[in-house]
Amino acid sequence: MPGRTAWILADQLSAGNPALDGADRVLIVQSSSRPGRLRFHRQKLQLVFSAMRHFAEDLEGRGIDVDYRRAPTLAAGLEEHLIEFDPETVALLEPNTVGAGQRLAGLDPRVELVEGTLFLTDPADFDRWAEGRKLLRMEDFYREQRRKYDLLMDGDEPAGGRWNYDPENREPPPDGITPPRPYRPREDGIDAEVREELGRMEAEGLATTGEDGPRIFPASRDQALRALDSFVAKRLPTFGPYQDAMVEGERFMWHALLSSSLNLGLLDPLECAEAAEAAWRDGEAPIESVEGFVRQVIGWREYVWGVYRLRGRSMLEPNELKADRPVPGAIMALDPEETSMACLADTLAGVRDTAYAHHIERLMLLGNLMLTLGVDPTEATDWFHSAFIDGYEWVMVPNVAGMALWADGGKMMTKPYAATGRYVDRMSDYCGDCRYSPKQRTGPDACPLTTLYWDFLDRNRQLLGANHRMKMQVRNLDRIDEEEMSAIREQAAGLRSEFNA
Ligand SMILES: Cc1cc2nc3c(=O)[nH]c(=O)nc-3n(C[C@H](O)[C@H](O)[C@H](O)COP(=O)(O)OP(=O)(O)OC[C@H]3O[C@@H](n4cnc5c(N)ncnc54)[C@H](O)[C@@H]3O)c2cc1C
Ligand code: SF4
Repeated sequence: MPGRTAWILADQLSAGNPALDGADRVLIVQSSSRPGRLRFHRQKLQLVFSAMRHFAEDLEGRGIDVDYRRAPTLAAGLEEHLIEFDPETVALLEPNTVGAGQRLAGLDPRVELVEGTLFLTDPADFDRWAEGRKLLRMEDFYREQRRKYDLLMDGDEPAGGRWNYDPENREPPPDGITPPRPYRPREDGIDAEVREELGRMEAEGLATTGEDGPRIFPASRDQALRALDSFVAKRLPTFGPYQDAMVEGERFMWHALLSSSLNLGLLDPLECAEAAEAAWRDGEAPIESVEGFVRQVIGWREYVWGVYRLRGRSMLEPNELKADRPVPGAIMALDPEETSMACLADTLAGVRDTAYAHHIERLMLLGNLMLTLGVDPTEATDWFHSAFIDGYEWVMVPNVAGMALWADGGKMMTKPYAATGRYVDRMSDYCGDCRYSPKQRTGPDACPLTTLYWDFLDRNRQLLGANHRMKMQVRNLDRIDEEEMSAIREQAAGLRSEFNA
């Protein structure tokens, strides 16, 4: 019996996981304490448990013994496994969360951490790239990735003559658009069992957030590949131009919906980027869309991972903007009825119903509102982590603390993503039906995002005024007379109390 066990964590569900090499059996622990720590979206728990069970089933189908164990904690699951199977070694791929490897390896001397990663980028390579650089510019990292993986390259030059087609990819939504329906997986017996189990756990006190519903995101390798194929064939060609656009009731636009599959380990980032490149080479998708997608996957995703490995949760600590407010009640409750902002209500309804919002909704609506309100970065990170289908610490900390809330004072992003309602008006169809006006800074019709933006600049005038990329915005404050400025301050204070009521 002894031999070698491969211990597979919930976000390591890849047949290429190096811990599987030479394993006599596999251990997967479904820990009931994990969901208890944060109030996770019900659909995220459904997806993660279902994916773990599907992975176990796939392995068993290939003749590999699996010990799928439900236990109160990972430690308890490991202990039970050690008693029953008495393995000589338990191989565990280095976990994605900083510090988790040491913690899990410390549980028993037989646990051996296997070096490697399901990302393209080895942490040591990222550290080498980052060493000595004052600014870790994503664009520099991305160009190296393109060269290294020979993606969208014509020899030494970028295919199509440019590295970046972002300027072409910021179109506002045209009237009457109808994005193609995304791939939908079919639920099976495993899903039914997981749903029943979650129902029992909720009855015993497990607190979740959001609505349950038919599973939208892939839970197996097979489903993830279908989702990738369907995206490349039907949505990729128009992915680029409307990447930043928001439309009421349109939850997914032309986005890939692949983050949960990539983050679980069901898809490999390189195969996604190569599939997109092949579509361009075959003349099935334009370079603007394909480059935009490749940049997200081999650029942003890998960069965010590298920055997290380098800085870990310390990104939350500087809290340079001294933000200390709680997450607004309407957002915590995912309750569109609790806000009269048309943009926020629709985005919250989307997160409630799907555990998903696309990048601009996350950054320029939810993130922007939390930034300008002054929400505490740790609380914001916990909320995003729990409410989204693709949330894990490695991806939440840099995206929420570094990108959206600028808690590190510019070590990751050179300037904060703060914007007035005018940005939302340009990029969406929300404002027309909203009771507020995006142009107004004060008064009963003033858009909350607009009031909060000017108040944010004013409260952080000194810090932001010293930032060369924000100087102009801060200088615009001087065009507002003192009477209006104090009205803005007063109205913003009222909004902060209302949001936290
Ligand atoms: C405040 C905030 C929170 C976020 N939280 C998460 C999260 O918990 N998990 C997560 O995977 N992404 C997160 N992101 C990044 C990005 O918004 C999502 O990856 C994307 O919206 C997922 O949807 P999609 O698969 O349809 O992506 P698309 O828009 O179609 O992009 C394609 C792929 O690129 C990758 N990608 C693009 N940008 C990023 C990025 N900044 N960081 C990491 N991967 C990226 C994703 O894997 C994504 O599947 C967050 C961004 C912000 C601003
Ligand atoms: S006016 Fe302001 S609150 Fe209303 S939809 Fe536009 S941006 Fe959102």
